[in-house]
Amino acid sequence: MKSSAAKKPELAQKLVYSFGDGSAEGSAKMKNELGGKGANLADMCQLGLPVPPGFTVTTDVCVAYYDAGKHFPEALAAQVEEGVAKIEAAVGRRFGDASNPLLVSVRSGARASMPGMMDTILNLGLNDATVEGLAAKTGNARFAYDSYRRFIQMYADVVLGVDHDHFEDLLDLMKNEREVALDTDLTEADLKELVAQYKEKVQQALGTPFPQDVHEQLWGAIRAVFDSWMNPRAITYRNLHDIPAEWGTAVNVQSMVFGNMGNDCATGVAFTRNPSTGEKMFYGEFLVNAQGEDVVAGIRTPQPLTIAGKAEGGDLPSMEEVMPDVFAELVAIYKKMEAHYRDMQDIEFTVENRKLWMLQTRNGKRTAKASMKIAVDMVAEKLITKEEALLRIDPLALDQLLHPTLDPNAKKQVIAKGLPASPGAASGKVVFTAEDAESANARNEKVILVRIETSPEDIHGMHAARGILTARGGMTSHAAVVARGMGKCCVSGAGDIRINYARKEFAAGGLTVREGEIITLNGSTGEVMLGEVATVQPNLSGDFATIMGWADEVRTLKVRTNAETPLDAKTAREFGAEGIGLCRTEHMFFEADRITAVREMIIAETLKAREAALAKLLPVQRADFVEIFRIMDGLPVTIRLLDPPLHEFLPHNEAEMQEVADGAGVPIDAVKYRAAQLHEANPMLGHRGCRLGITYPEIYAMQARALFEAAKQVAAEGKTVLPEIMIPLVMTRKELQLMKAVVDAQAKEAGFTAPYQVGTMIELPRAALRAGEIAEHAEFFSFGTNDLTQTTLGISRDDAASFIEDYKRKGVIESDPFVTLDQDGVGELIRLAAERGRATRAGIKLGICGEHGGDPASIGFCQRVGLSYVSCSPYRVPIARLAAAQAALRDPQ
Ligand code: ADP
Ligand code: MG
Ligand code: MG
Repeated sequence: MKSSAAKKPELAQKLVYSFGDGSAEGSAKMKNELGGKGANLADMCQLGLPVPPGFTVTTDVCVAYYDAGKHFPEALAAQVEEGVAKIEAAVGRRFGDASNPLLVSVRSGARASMPGMMDTILNLGLNDATVEGLAAKTGNARFAYDSYRRFIQMYADVVLGVDHDHFEDLLDLMKNEREVALDTDLTEADLKELVAQYKEKVQQALGTPFPQDVHEQLWGAIRAVFDSWMNPRAITYRNLHDIPAEWGTAVNVQSMVFGNMGNDCATGVAFTRNPSTGEKMFYGEFLVNAQGEDVVAGIRTPQPLTIAGKAEGGDLPSMEEVMPDVFAELVAIYKKMEAHYRDMQDIEFTVENRKLWMLQTRNGKRTAKASMKIAVDMVAEKLITKEEALLRIDPLALDQLLHPTLDPNAKKQVIAKGLPASPGAASGKVVFTAEDAESANARNEKVILVRIETSPEDIHGMHAARGILTARGGMTSHAAVVARGMGKCCVSGAGDIRINYARKEFAAGGLTVREGEIITLNGSTGEVMLGEVATVQPNLSGDFATIMGWADEVRTLKVRTNAETPLDAKTAREFGAEGIGLCRTEHMFFEADRITAVREMIIAETLKAREAALAKLLPVQRADFVEIFRIMDGLPVTIRLLDPPLHEFLPHNEAEMQEVADGAGVPIDAVKYRAAQLHEANPMLGHRGCRLGITYPEIYAMQARALFEAAKQVAAEGKTVLPEIMIPLVMTRKELQLMKAVVDAQAKEAGFTAPYQVGTMIELPRAALRAGEIAEHAEFFSFGTNDLTQTTLGISRDDAASFIEDYKRKGVIESDPFVTLDQDGVGELIRLAAERGRATRAGIKLGICGEHGGDPASIGFCQRVGLSYVSCSPYRVPIARLAAAQAALRDPQ
């Protein structure tokens, strides 16, 4: 160990915090220093829960370790020794003592829970001498050697880098030779022999013996935990969840308790409420005579905790029946924990000779559906307030609920059934590896990842897949937990499918399904179906409606939608949109019944010819607006006049050109000539937006006429029409002044007398800078942040995809500027434009209609800048309503 204290002078004096016996040096508040696991271990001790004593090495030490080029700070050794001594005193055993040995676990634990990312080592402190001491002391040699073989495997894998497959192969070989099915059927003699084989394997692989010095073991394990912070799967997980590498991980060293000492021992995991549905029901799995991750690893089929949990057709006895006294104690403890943490807990426990020990608790991951139900229930139970409930739900997770589910009446061919591990429905082509899932996803293909079981190495593939199917593993298996966290549909433990990785196929229900064939999963029932099954729209009542109602009570930002079709407008209104923030009119131009007239208008060489073509367009545009105004009765509708450059509408082939020529009564060459003339070198920055309106005012005049006539017609039906006319791509005051005059003249001519507004989209940096002047004519600004981001950063949105991820990884930018507003870039322009606009016109209406309008973090920014509304795509509306409520709670205006 080399000293690094000099390099990090601010490293705290205290590097190690002890816990145990009803007290702890740390506390729940110290998550940053102790990590989530360490802080909660300390907290559980202070709550008086049975926790094996131990100590936590702080995350600061991990940071110092990396800063010093992977060397421990000098002060650490003495503090770790002291921590070990305290454990020894508490349990009355000594580390490395051949007659009465203390064994410990070495566990990682970062601030944010990173399930399965870091490796835990159990039974550390065993060697050829202490294993005999443990056997003698417990009178259970079989158990001692079982623990030793587990320890060698874990330590060799995690610390020494000898792959665990080698040991599993030896174990399988031994079971085959002895003709037994389960690990628990191996005898003391078998295990002793296995330990010898394991040690031999280590010697073979490394050329050195398995370390017998228990202190060397301990330091090796601590180092391995720190090193695992930078392993590829941890890095992937952090990237996916925006966890900074600078946080580091803590290390927990804790006295071992044994769930593998016999049939009055067990290990288990539990959720205080159902993490899939949110139902208030204790829920979990356990295994008798087992240790650590056996439950999650799918080695044996885990047993349910409760009698009620047995419903799923299983005949395995529950903990409630097998160990009623311990079960009762567990129930009392979980109730105490839920009341204390005021949230659903995910807990890990071990039973040693009928004595219950708590090993971990954390707020449980849950599906969006469960998060709604738990929040609503906890408010009713007076455990939390409505505000807390709102702040607890991840707005983006709502997406899971807004999409279609399987049509219960659809025809389906069920080929297998597994556990309903993570709800939702998904169809896609079958793939068998994470790599294949990723590359298919890159080709925009929907895939279902099918694995015997998943491990942390598969995370990137799980991310790329629409759904996950595993043959092995329970409701708390890796696949299930990770899928629920990702909001992905998952069916786990479908025991009757037989996967053949080599041939890339699986057999189920008498069929063979090959790679590339389509299957459908129902994560709510566990069904696996052949082919694609029809879906139905989601039900947005119940808890969802309750939460949305609470959100609407507290938010101050209005939520509108970007919609140009009647279907989008209707959907958005059902999702609670309070108006249209952006109705693009060019999409209307592309419809088959009018594109020819649009093209005639474009190729027209004279005003007269252009007006003739526009006259054909007027009635169709009016009809479009009539429909939209009817749907949005009583709500404002912002209509943007023509934006894209004209060449985008031009015919692509001879036949289309001929059609246009015929319609306009000109030769085809005239059409070709005009097309060449209109060609844009850089269409994003070209002759478009209000620049077209300045050159050809009759285009905007026609559009304004159509919308005012439509508004008049719908108002006459007794509906309330609130038109807001938006002029795109303005950069000077004069542009807006001229275009507003065109619009106002049409309102007059159409005889529309009700109120309407004219404003502009702020999508050029110059417009943001000149917002004070532009506001002289603008009654509203809508920030078009897609184009504003492109024009400010000089990055095109489509090209960004090829390098933004790289930029994030290399720390050039923190987040994708096309997703989240950057306070120092585009955000600063918005802030400035808002200030300057308000200075000219107090109370000017300010909205945002770029993609950012549906991004929760950007919505927080909009709240702080004091915008009036955000506008987003229809399916984002509920997400924006919740995000706006959270923004209002965090930053009251
Ligand atoms: P993870 O962060 O992946 O959940 P843990 O550090 O919680 O990893 O360890 C995994 C499992 O190892 C625990 O759930 C528990 O079953 C077992 N374990 C950890 N420490 C101990 C201990 N001191 N005694 C007995 N079992 C332990
Ligand atoms: Mg754990
Ligand atoms: Mg634009």
